[in-house]
Amino acid sequence: MNEYRGVWTLAEVREGRVHPVSYELLAWGRNLADSLEVPLSAVLLGSNVAGQADDLIAGGADQVYVVDTPELASFLADSYTKTLAALVQRHKPEIFIASATSTGRTIMPLLYVDAETGLTADCTELTIEKAERLLLQTRPAIGGNVMADIRTPLGRPQMCTVRPRSKKPLPVDRSRTGKVFRESVDKRDLSSVMKLLEFLPEKNVGAPLQDAEIIVSGGKGMKNAKNFAMLEELARLLGGSVGASRTAVDLNWAPYSSQVGLSGKSVTPKLYIACGISGAVQHLAGMSASDTVIAINTDPEAPIFRVADLAIVGDVLEVVPALIGRLK
Ligand SMILES: Cc1cc2nc3c(=O)[nH]c(=O)nc-3n(C[C@H](O)[C@H](O)[C@H](O)COP(=O)(O)OP(=O)(O)OC[C@H]3O[C@@H](n4cnc5c(N)ncnc54)[C@H](O)[C@@H]3O)c2cc1C
Repeated sequence: MNEYRGVWTLAEVREGRVHPVSYELLAWGRNLADSLEVPLSAVLLGSNVAGQADDLIAGGADQVYVVDTPELASFLADSYTKTLAALVQRHKPEIFIASATSTGRTIMPLLYVDAETGLTADCTELTIEKAERLLLQTRPAIGGNVMADIRTPLGRPQMCTVRPRSKKPLPVDRSRTGKVFRESVDKRDLSSVMKLLEFLPEKNVGAPLQDAEIIVSGGKGMKNAKNFAMLEELARLLGGSVGASRTAVDLNWAPYSSQVGLSGKSVTPKLYIACGISGAVQHLAGMSASDTVIAINTDPEAPIFRVADLAIVGDVLEVVPALIGRLK
């Protein structure tokens, strides 16, 4: 294990550009690398992306490992995993972190199995236990009721994902210098059994949920898909986005991209309006950190009211249209 040194972050590329979450990760990684007194490296995979390595250095990286090849033009889980696994084996980082985006959540589980180490998903805090060079990975557990500190004493790299928007990027510093390593990998590692056919952007109302300051969310109490249109109208009037419970998503009333909760997105808006949502722990795990929660439910005993700042006991199909009418 002593051969493993250095902190790595995964730079994500979307539509040819390094995505902003990559710079948030560098802010996380910078603290860890400074604490361990090792270099901070970003790993950049893609096609025609090498030119952006300098941006990562300006964003806090000391080193950038780049694999720039047409085979990596689109994100395909198998070729990306094999490429990363080859780099990990070659350079042996002691810590490897990624963002808990769909890319990070797809690739890190595949990679940690390959590396036979451990992985903690969705961390909210990362610190170093210096004596043992251990990464303390803190995340909510048991439906968000406790914060668990997780260590990986027996595997390397120590791997985790952190929630997007959980840290501000470092100020851009164009005077920073660093090293860029162009890496090559075996053609077999670049091959994929998959082919990207088409890219379909999300069709949600408003900003992506994780960026939204106001979220109007619907559950089974909305009764049917058609009634979700009134949540869209309310969201539009408030300048917000539409979320949903898992039941509403399972019933096809809303897309999976709008699911809030343990197996959906974690959101921290200024205002969360829960319409016809019971407030199961798995739902609360994704939204209880919202600044203000308004819940509308016919059942005065609904658990959602325990986290609500304002409880409206009533029928959503009456309350929401009344709200829309007032706002108009
Ligand atoms: C491993 C695991 C992961 C999960 N992940 C998630 C997740 O990410 N997100 C998630 O949401 N759930 C998740 N769940 C499911 C979760 O346990 C609940 O089943 C789900 O959240 C319930 O959705 P709901 O509140 O829409 O439906 P229900 O629990 O059926 O609640 C409907 C609510 O609507 C109210 N209501 C009915 N009619 C009206 C009306 N006319 N006006 C106002 N209120 C009305 C009812 O009183 C009730 O409180 C997960 C479960 C498991 C086991």
